[in-house]
Amino acid sequence: MKISVSTIESFESRQYELQFGLRELGSDPGVKLDGAARLNLEVAQMTEGHFMVRGVLRAPCRYECSRCIESFPAEVEIPIAAVFVPEGDFAQITGGSTQDDDAAFWPYAQSQLDLGPMVHEYLALSAPMQPLCSVGCRGLCPHCGANLNEATCSCAGDRVEPRLAPLRKLLPRR
Ligand SMILES: [Zn+2]
Ligand SMILES: [Zn+2]
Repeated sequence: MKISVSTIESFESRQYELQFGLRELGSDPGVKLDGAARLNLEVAQMTEGHFMVRGVLRAPCRYECSRCIESFPAEVEIPIAAVFVPEGDFAQITGGSTQDDDAAFWPYAQSQLDLGPMVHEYLALSAPMQPLCSVGCRGLCPHCGANLNEATCSCAGDRVEPRLAPLRKLLPRR
């Protein structure tokens, strides 16, 4: 996932389109890539040796629903904005941290921008904390574990939250 920038002059920019999968990126449990991702980038040299990288990452991902635990596909589209600075200047410019208010900083060496770690981080950060296969997902029956999106279980007529069950005795009988 490296691109050579040795031929980009100061204040010049170039377009790139890259395709990659988990094989190029290296597998990681935090990255739920499921197929070929596309990265469209504009790379511009600003002040000497600093490369502004902007574009869009489109990636087919696969998540596990936090309610019904089914896996489901999701196409994610992530805006990219980063600045690559020479390795030697990196600590001085960023104080060692890759995060800034406006853009993320990444080090590079030998006129090659290694996009792998950056893409990795964008994908990991874009993964939802509580993925949902659909907003209306009905989840699993707390009693028998049936997937309520696919079936109604026999507990369905008596769906009372377990912690409220004792209160039920206080209700008048029908
Ligand atoms: Zn679900
Ligand atoms: Zn049930």
